[in-house]
Amino acid sequence: MTDSIICPKCLTTIEIKELTSAQLRMAAILCPRCEAEVDLPPARERIKQKTARLHAVGARAEEFVAAGGDLKSPEAAPLGMEMLEAYSELGKELGYDILKKIEPN
Ligand SMILES: [Zn+2]
Repeated sequence: MTDSIICPKCLTTIEIKELTSAQLRMAAILCPRCEAEVDLPPARERIKQKTARLHAVGARAEEFVAAGGDLKSPEAAPLGMEMLEAYSELGKELGYDILKKIEPN
């Protein structure tokens, strides 16, 4: 998985999910700490991974329902969050910031 990249100069870890859709459209971004250029993994690879993540959570939701789970119950909330985040991450790759970062209260 390439959910994060490491600046080759200062070794800061940069989370790909923290990047905006505009940043993801570039081949490289500037390190927030030392401003060195850091190459991003190819968009094709990232989209493949994020599509796989969305499929995986969809399959888990189907299993949950098949096992008698109620999607409106509190037990389903983590699944819902995961689905929303996976969808949002894929959206960013396609140029849409569906969700802004969710801050816990
Ligand atoms: Zn750096």
